Amino acid sequence: MKTIGMIGGMSWESTVTYYQIVNEVIRRELGGLHSAKCILHSVEFDEIERLQSTGEWEKSGEILGQAARGLEAAGADYILICTNTMHKVFDQVQSCVSVPLLHIAQMTADALKADDVEKVGLLGTKYTMEQEFYKAKLVENGIEVVIPGKEAVEVINDVIFHELCMGEIRDESRQAFLAAIDDMAERGAQAVILGCTEIGLLVRQSDTAVKLYDTTLIHAERAAMLSLE
Ligand code: GLU
Repeated sequence: MKTIGMIGGMSWESTVTYYQIVNEVIRRELGGLHSAKCILHSVEFDEIERLQSTGEWEKSGEILGQAARGLEAAGADYILICTNTMHKVFDQVQSCVSVPLLHIAQMTADALKADDVEKVGLLGTKYTMEQEFYKAKLVENGIEVVIPGKEAVEVINDVIFHELCMGEIRDESRQAFLAAIDDMAERGAQAVILGCTEIGLLVRQSDTAVKLYDTTLIHAERAAMLSLE
């Protein structure tokens, strides 16, 4: 079995899900007492979030790059950055190590293509929804992307940082996310990407008829399956 390296803590609320999923997948596949081989480097999220808001992405990339080096030295065969937003510095982090990083948006694009989804809605932080680094990966894969309207982008971003990353789950916020999902579906999205690793803590597939692609589940499941190849 290969060893999965995880750069987590962004936020740790969603890293818990990653840890659970990789282990559940290994148990599902192998049964008995089998569990995932993984190494976690969990960062101090306050430090990272400050660098995001001041636009100091390169500095944040250095921190994650350092974490990646440590994971490689500790024996990780491949590495996950356990947040969508920090894929903004994916190339910088990848350049620090010789083991591969698994790109969350590429794995999501693979899942969408397998289901013939050509136009998708995207929920995530304002960086993920508004900037190009994430959407470009989907577009490269032939997938058209729609995002919520301006006001909804602000609300969703606030809920992510001030509620979900702090472990707070509010029904009112769930309704706001569901309204944004419906709006994107009305604008032609055949499915919606939960493109922030905490959104699955708030919105579940059973909450909506619109097909959801939860990036945390996709990323963690794929990583676990790869460890068995
Ligand atoms: N976990 C979130 C994501 O997937 C947001 C936290 C962050 O800014 O890294 O984008």
